[in-house]
Amino acid sequence: ASKETTGAAVTRLDPSKGSRAGKTASTPRYDYLIVGAGFAGAVLAERLAAGSNKRVLVVDKRPHIAGNAYDHYNEDGLLVHKYGPHIFHTNSDKVVDYLSRFTQWRPYEHRVLAQVDDQLVPMPINLTTLSRLYGREFTADDAQAFLAARAEKVDTIKTSEDVVVSQIGRELYEKFFQGYTRKQWGLDPSELDKSVAARVPTRTSIDDRYFTDSFQNMPLHGYTKMFENMLNHPNISVMTGTDFQDLEGEVQYDKLIYTGPIDEFFKHRFGKLPYRSLRFEHTTLPVENFQQVGTVNYPAEATPYTRITEYKHLTGQQHAKTSLTYEYPMAEGDPYYPVPRPENQELYRRYQALADATPNVVFVGRLACYRYYNMDQVVAQALSTYQQLQQEDAARSAA
Ligand code: FAD
Ligand code: UDP
Repeated sequence: ASKETTGAAVTRLDPSKGSRAGKTASTPRYDYLIVGAGFAGAVLAERLAAGSNKRVLVVDKRPHIAGNAYDHYNEDGLLVHKYGPHIFHTNSDKVVDYLSRFTQWRPYEHRVLAQVDDQLVPMPINLTTLSRLYGREFTADDAQAFLAARAEKVDTIKTSEDVVVSQIGRELYEKFFQGYTRKQWGLDPSELDKSVAARVPTRTSIDDRYFTDSFQNMPLHGYTKMFENMLNHPNISVMTGTDFQDLEGEVQYDKLIYTGPIDEFFKHRFGKLPYRSLRFEHTTLPVENFQQVGTVNYPAEATPYTRITEYKHLTGQQHAKTSLTYEYPMAEGDPYYPVPRPENQELYRRYQALADATPNVVFVGRLACYRYYNMDQVVAQALSTYQQLQQEDAARSAA
């Protein structure tokens, strides 16, 4: 195996602690090195440490735990999300039961308005949205007929354009989806897989919640607190501000769990996998409230940001001031979103084949699996990865 694929590299650079061969009692040895302290890394660290009594070292190159879900109290004492709004929602009892060991919850149903035609209207599009835009009442039947009359026939629904125009027609597509998507991804919806725009439905009801999952709650004391509770175990060591690439050869471990970008792990051998980035502009205003709902979307292409989020709606915090985040999509910067389109999937598959052929390294999470996962999906993936690791362990002991 080439250097970067030897997961169980065990060279030691600190002679004072002796080499692996020296086997001194003080030599820090780990069963697992976990790269990334986000959901994927933290869930696996907790399970392996608490469930299987493994010794785990978690490293993250950022100066904090919790990955993209990191939140903190800013200088004014307002709880904000450093990497943009993270709203927890799931239909999985298993995920809820698991995370509930580490946090209490605060009920929160996310609502979004979109600025369209100089009005703020509910998004996802619902009966209220249509009434406001077209200046008349709509029943569910009216809306169904109205949308069906505008929907375009698409033989095979492949792209994000297909999925929207085949349901609601071109006018609403242009108002709500095309500009937003072009900004968010730097691509036209016709160049993106249908799964992207399909995340946002259209409703012939007055339900104005962004999500319809059975469980919609925020961690009562924030995400970071929940991660602290997960990682607070005598078998877990955490090193933040530590890049895996600088650590290689400095620690001993049997297995590696990698949750960073998969192409970076393999030194971009087949070329770069595109990840979309964002610039977050955080601001605090000396007023109690700024907008009516948690997030307002700005689909017009002329507006450089995609959305503004006001955290007090999410956190329920009472405060004389209010904190907001504007999201500006970027081509360069931290990798936040895999870009779902066929050629990228193709390239990912080549990396995935390399990953499959790399012993003792497990790739988990949104960046390592190049999947547009929500938080709950990453937790579910990490829990099932843990089960697989347990089974492999059991099979090895039996052999
Ligand atoms: P991450 O959280 O990205 O963690 C990976 C970690 O690995 C990072 O902290 C990184 O620093 C570290 N790392 C990478 N390379 C190295 C290296 N070489 N050495 C050391 N450390 C390294 N999901 C929802 O369910 N609801 C939402 O509302 C929601 N909103 C979102 C909004 C935005 C703007 C974004 C970007 C994502 C949102 N998500 C949301 C998705 C959510 O962030 C992810 O599903 C989840 O955080 C993924 O967890 P992860 O552990 O796979 O990756
Ligand atoms: N989208 C859109 N207009 C909107 C909201 C979403 O066109 O007002 C499209 C856009 O392509 C976006 C995708 O739907 O990237 C998924 O939206 P979601 O709100 O789930 O994005 P995320 O919160 O993951 O950034």
